[in-house]
Amino acid sequence: MRRAVRSGTLDEVLRTPRVAIIGAGMSGIGMGAKLRMAGIESFRIYEKAGGIGGTWHANTYPGLSCDVPSRYYSYTFAPNPSWTHVYSPGREIWAYLDRVARDYGLYDRISLNTDVAEARWIDGEWIVRTGEGEESAYDFVITGAGGLVHTHKPEIPGLQSFAGAWFHSAEWDHSVPLEGRRIGVIGTGSTGMQITRALAPVAGRYELYQRTPQWILPLANRRYSRPTRWLFGRIPALNRLGYRVWQAQIEWMLGQATVKDGFARRFISTACRVHLRRVRDPDLRRRLTPDYQPMCKRLLMGTHFYDQFERPNVELVDAAIDHVEARGIVTQDGQLHELDVIVLATGFDAHAFLKPMELIGPAGLRLSELWDGEPFAYRTVALPGFPNVFTLIGPHSPFGNQSLFTISETQMDYALRFIELWRRGELDAASPSREATDAYNAELRAAIPNTIWASGCQSWYIGKDGLPHAWPWTPARHREMLAEPQLEEWELVPSSGRARNGGESQVPSNSRASSPSPPG
Ligand code: NAP
Repeated sequence: MRRAVRSGTLDEVLRTPRVAIIGAGMSGIGMGAKLRMAGIESFRIYEKAGGIGGTWHANTYPGLSCDVPSRYYSYTFAPNPSWTHVYSPGREIWAYLDRVARDYGLYDRISLNTDVAEARWIDGEWIVRTGEGEESAYDFVITGAGGLVHTHKPEIPGLQSFAGAWFHSAEWDHSVPLEGRRIGVIGTGSTGMQITRALAPVAGRYELYQRTPQWILPLANRRYSRPTRWLFGRIPALNRLGYRVWQAQIEWMLGQATVKDGFARRFISTACRVHLRRVRDPDLRRRLTPDYQPMCKRLLMGTHFYDQFERPNVELVDAAIDHVEARGIVTQDGQLHELDVIVLATGFDAHAFLKPMELIGPAGLRLSELWDGEPFAYRTVALPGFPNVFTLIGPHSPFGNQSLFTISETQMDYALRFIELWRRGELDAASPSREATDAYNAELRAAIPNTIWASGCQSWYIGKDGLPHAWPWTPARHREMLAEPQLEEWELVPSSGRARNGGESQVPSNSRASSPSPPG
């Protein structure tokens, strides 16, 4: 690639890109840190919530953890020798993100409680407008707004008339006492499973409302001993090795198993079926047995879920919910289940990417119109017709049981390549062509039927078109696709030579985020 180093020192010829980052979750914090590492100070991170951390700020439910190994669920540039567990609790993950944000001096760049309503391309720059009407100009917009943000709250008749407390798992009401109470949890996804393990032992009565059984891969959690943590602290290479070992295992097993038939798929399938045999009561085992293939829905991972049903206070309710009344849930078999607390562990609308923010491109093209309810991107990371916009964990990113840190970092590095080109004056604007985007999406759709997600089940991957919106290849293919920008697939606006001196002073500084507080 041609380098535009002309005369004088490198710093003298570099332009200063103004970058808006939407979201201070894992992606936004990582992007901010990477910009700082590249010597770019002229950015601002907009965060609509009152704290950083994204999903790890919103979710505070009892039992919250991550079923991706923590050593791998981390940034490559910020290893954490102090993880207490192989699969660490949610609060620790939040503390890790907080530490990275502090270490990279990001808090003075983050505007909390600030939602972005709109970004509009006017005269070669993005004008970002917040919900409060404040406008700022940028050269790049990078979205890291998360995929599982908009809570799905089913319209269960009578729910509003319930006399006890009810809330969604991602909006946990910590003022509600739980010990000894009668608790009903609706939903048996990863969240429902984690809540069950935490609350079944302390509830007076615990009922799990299951519409569809789930497969569970048994992965035992383990605490890291003090000497082990000390060793990881003393020998940084061990962290890097741990990261790569977990990555190799997960990408090889789960990455392969989801996208092609073979040993990995059979191995995981067998492990799930053997795990289910822990349920000794044949009738209960039958009710907990899914009628679809393991991994068709996002695979649950962990142990000690089935054991909970051996407790006398715990019941699996698989009769369909009819309605809710003041005293509790009434199932279609006519039974009233009296409850004090109802938790909706009913998931998220995974297809509401970036909503309600609107992007308006050069020709007045609105992203909501381009997508029309079916989000798509170029290679997960960019949008045709929207110059200098990059989407972290954008449409069809490889998620499932992979580490989103790793996926997002690949996308951050890709975005940085374009920012560097801009910085060196090699272009003013870049967006993938519609033809290249369509060709990529056609290839992607053709590969979807081969994946496990299309093997016949209902899941949050499924979009309006009835197809799973997922990455149909291995995570390695994602890295390959984003290793080098294929500039021939991009529409590039050459540099006008116009000096841009965005600089720190022109990016609105932040006064609201200087004293962060951890989630409750
Ligand atoms: P989810 O996987 O979408 O599960 C939602 C559950 O609610 C399902 O069991 C669903 O039943 C049930 N449900 C929805 N509407 C219902 C209704 N009207 N009546 C009865 N049941 C209803 O949601 P989630 O458990 O919150 O997990 C979402 C995703 O978040 C996960 O797949 C994962 O990617 C991520 N997550 C990750 C971790 C982690 O450890 N890494 C932990 C938690 C969450 P059906 O199956 O019948 O639709």
